[in-house]
Amino acid sequence: MTRGGGAPEALALALSPLLQPLRLLSRAGLARVAVLREIEPLVQRVVEQARPYAGDLEAGLDRLEETARGFDSAPEARRRTAIAALVRELAGLVDVPEEIAALARDESTPTSKTTPTSTSNTTATPNSTRTSTPTSNSTRTSTPTSTSPRDSPSRPPARRAAIAAAAQKAGLTPDPLLTPVDHLRGVGPAIRDKLRSKGLGTVQDLLLNLPRRYEDRRKRRTVAEAPLGERSVIAGTVAWIDEVRARRGRRLEVRLRDDEGGYLMLLWFHYRPSLVQRLRTGARIVVSGDVRAGWRGGAKTMSHPDVEPLEPGGGDALPSDPASDDSFGRVVPVYADVEGVPARTYRRIARRAVDEYARHLADVLPRGVLERRELWPLAEAVREAHFPDRSADVAATAQRPAGEPHRRMAFEELFMVQLGLALRRRGVKVEPGIAFRATEESIERIVKSLPWPLTRAQRSSVGAIAQDMRKPEPMNRLLQGDVGSGKTAVALCAALLAVEDGYQAALMAPTEILAEQHTRSLRRLLRERRDVHVELVTGSLGARERAHAERLVRGGAAHIVVGTHALAEEDTDFHKLGLAVIDEQHRFGVMTRASLMKKGARPDVLVMTATPIPRTLALTLYGDLDVSVLDELPPGRTPIATRVYRDAQRERAYDVVRRELKAGRQAYVVLPLVEESEKLADLKAATKERDRLAVDVFPDIPIGLVHGRQSAQERNEAMDRFLRGEDRILVATTVIEVGVDVPNATVMLVEHAERFGLSQLHQLRGRVGRGAAKSHCLLLTGTSGAEWGPAARERLKVMEETTDGFRIAEADLELRGPGEFLGTRQSGMPDFAVAELTRDQAILQEAREEAFALVQSDPDLRKPENEALRDAFHNRWRGRLSLARVG
Ligand code: ADP
Ligand code: MG
Repeated sequence: MTRGGGAPEALALALSPLLQPLRLLSRAGLARVAVLREIEPLVQRVVEQARPYAGDLEAGLDRLEETARGFDSAPEARRRTAIAALVRELAGLVDVPEEIAALARDESTPTSKTTPTSTSNTTATPNSTRTSTPTSNSTRTSTPTSTSPRDSPSRPPARRAAIAAAAQKAGLTPDPLLTPVDHLRGVGPAIRDKLRSKGLGTVQDLLLNLPRRYEDRRKRRTVAEAPLGERSVIAGTVAWIDEVRARRGRRLEVRLRDDEGGYLMLLWFHYRPSLVQRLRTGARIVVSGDVRAGWRGGAKTMSHPDVEPLEPGGGDALPSDPASDDSFGRVVPVYADVEGVPARTYRRIARRAVDEYARHLADVLPRGVLERRELWPLAEAVREAHFPDRSADVAATAQRPAGEPHRRMAFEELFMVQLGLALRRRGVKVEPGIAFRATEESIERIVKSLPWPLTRAQRSSVGAIAQDMRKPEPMNRLLQGDVGSGKTAVALCAALLAVEDGYQAALMAPTEILAEQHTRSLRRLLRERRDVHVELVTGSLGARERAHAERLVRGGAAHIVVGTHALAEEDTDFHKLGLAVIDEQHRFGVMTRASLMKKGARPDVLVMTATPIPRTLALTLYGDLDVSVLDELPPGRTPIATRVYRDAQRERAYDVVRRELKAGRQAYVVLPLVEESEKLADLKAATKERDRLAVDVFPDIPIGLVHGRQSAQERNEAMDRFLRGEDRILVATTVIEVGVDVPNATVMLVEHAERFGLSQLHQLRGRVGRGAAKSHCLLLTGTSGAEWGPAARERLKVMEETTDGFRIAEADLELRGPGEFLGTRQSGMPDFAVAELTRDQAILQEAREEAFALVQSDPDLRKPENEALRDAFHNRWRGRLSLARVG
């Protein structure tokens, strides 16, 4: 059968997940169309999966996908027509069950449009035939699979494999990489199911499931030779085996005798009975594991070693031909465990997948890139990543995918992201924006009106921003600067440049408290400028206040508008938005930035981040932005002395606070953040702590309280009391994390410091040390031993050692990985399977250069040599990041 004929069964199976929501709808009635969720992404996903089996029906798939576009945000009437169209297109591709086909007729019957009763009437009419449409060119008979509801989309690997199997049965392999695993020799149904349950349904899944680490099993050692504290491979004979009943459970002890008569004790504390059978006395085995000292009288031991039987009669010869045995005599891949599939078996399966299918992995990177960067072909890189031969020494040293194989795979991953960023940046730049005047005189005037001269770094940032603003294309700049480096003043200068030209400026902050704080500081800085009106718009304004504020924004009377994401919401209309400043961008993600940008006729965008983001991450997250860095602090700051205290040393920490209070200073007491869902508990904890401090620790000292459950007004009042010095201590949850500015506060005490990320602590610490007086940061740790473990101590030590936000951020990134570092709230951060941002900076840089150069030379990826890349790019990003179109 030719490809053009399609594979009806495979196509039907691939499209079958669409039947579920449709069936639901046919039962509930078309009038319930509003209940459907996430239809557009579902259709996209399903269509994508179905493409290889479409044959000459591709166009039908395109139309099918088109019907769902915008579905999830469409009003009911549009949804109904969309469903009808979707069903028609689906029916043109595969046979659909009668009750679903009825949905299409339903919509086209005028009388049935509005009443649910008529809907159910129509669905109850069984004798109508299938809707015929212009695209319905098929006379196929219905296959059982096409109507099977069994295929739950929640088991994608099984689905993919089933589709591939159906395709193969139809005599068609559109993509050999989708071959089901059980087509490999040695994989039967039992192992297939076990692999599938780990998401390994096709040979492609196997190829992309890279080893977690390697073990160098090229050389064997005798027990005497094996150094303590290192992994070794040792062969020998089981001399003696014993299951010992210990107080808690059993343990297995095996004495291994090597060929020189040395003894090694093997220990298992958890094991399966089958292990005992494999280790009969006299069995010849090879073991691999960490060699330790200390078994009764000092004999060497190995706990939980990997064990492989030696060929019977093979004598000393370890199998060394890699083709005959992939588990010894080479650098051996160690994969994540698949329950029920022994490591050695898995290795054999991986070897077959690599030998038979790796060559089908196509290089989508342009040839020029591969050559310039001397990248290996992908197939070779994957092969070597599994079974290092050429790169064996590198793999043995690194003990994980490294060297050229790693470089090739990481390059592609990073390249795809950078390509998205490059395309996005280009998309923004080509659209006409506002050309502000931003003259040198206005800059001078604005800067002069500030209470202090700008720092050198602030000056040059303002210069770069002004230059961007003058250009007729939209500015897209990142202003990066450590806590307290004075980003607000820079933002204000930019805002005033826009205002002078008759535009509005928006400043969007991640939290209400920060928006409120920004409003206060801007108003303070603008005291001399009565003509500039600053307005605050947040979700917690009362309905009337909000309406009032929005009127001012709409009418243009508000020149600078400060707010939370409420600004990006639909009902905030600007009169003439010219500049959008976004603070702490990574908390919003790409999408919010995009929706704010739509508010004006392509406003300029300035993104500020107070979290010092390591360069690697900055490139990944903000690769489409130009960057200015504030790398110096305003003068007159004194360093903050930071100390970590155990709970038992609490009194000493309180003494520091008392001393500062006595000197007329103020203090923060910070409690750990609790989950969004536990705000009530947050309130309780904060209130309780305030009361405890007021009664037991700091009697007669007025203590204020801010937390996440307060209304904007309450919080504002509390902040104002603290700012005016009426409250001397402020107990706070991390709502004060960013932006709060009270120069007289010189000491901060953080409870349960171990629960914070280092960067977060650094942000917090930035709340003190804002005046000229010496400041203190006291980090208290929890009472339980686990929390105050060596790892926690090590982590917090970094805080004692440095106040350099970038160093802290790097340390944080290394300790916690990018996901945690950035928190879960941010969106648009791709996750990588291969690349590691901390170690792959050089690769990232190369990938970035190539991606940006490519977009420069072929802005729409239209050149034929970039066709494969374009397809791969769209497949990769579809539905995850609308990178190419944001903005
Ligand atoms: P960031 O937002 O970068 O953390 P802020 O903009 O809040 O920092 O500024 C920190 C503090 O420094 C504020 O009190 C601000 O008034 C002050 N400040 C900013 N720029 C200067 C400057 N050039 N000279 C003196 N003080 C400054
Ligand atoms: Mg700030």
